[in-house]
Amino acid sequence: MAGSAIFVADGGHFRFNTPMAAPRREVKLPYREMNIGCPHCRAPLIIGTVMDRILLSRRTCPKCGKEFLIENDVPKKPDGGLKKELF
Ligand SMILES: [Zn+2]
Repeated sequence: MAGSAIFVADGGHFRFNTPMAAPRREVKLPYREMNIGCPHCRAPLIIGTVMDRILLSRRTCPKCGKEFLIENDVPKKPDGGLKKELF
């Protein structure tokens, strides 16, 4: 990964992380995008989330069609050390 997605212009007049600086755009949810790799096929994926940190989320890779888990922002195979879900 090279660099960050934060643009700073004119000494910081434009900052993504200050919702008050953008009066026309109410930011209620801190939407962000994460770049991860599929744990199955290593395809680069972009995960959009409104959570500060993805504690546990289940996604399906659009490339290989397999399910994987995101645990603490880390993509994992669903059978990687996790016990079967009891439902
Ligand atoms: Zn995949």
